[in-house]
Amino acid sequence: MANIGESATYICRNCQNPIAVRSELLSKNYLGKTGPTYMFSHVRNIIVGPKQDRNLITGLYTIAGIFCSNCGEELGWKYIQAYEARQKYNVGRFINERAKIAKEY
Ligand SMILES: [Zn+2]
Repeated sequence: MANIGESATYICRNCQNPIAVRSELLSKNYLGKTGPTYMFSHVRNIIVGPKQDRNLITGLYTIAGIFCSNCGEELGWKYIQAYEARQKYNVGRFINERAKIAKEY
């Protein structure tokens, strides 16, 4: 696997495609629609799907599903737009379902 410069790397659990590094992890306990998730400031090696409006626990957002660029597994979603001003900080962030991601040292 390519070393992308840091000690801990987050990978697709299905195919070991590296998607993020530790310094990009913002939260380990963000509550997603299917359970605990990781929130990242940036991820790579993914494909962003079509935009959709979604009513989440913290309000209405436009989101897009994110998929592993190697195996196509759905990993989570990206916040495209927030409708409530106090939720705008989420825009541009990536949510990955913890069950879909593994950590590699
Ligand atoms: Zn994959």
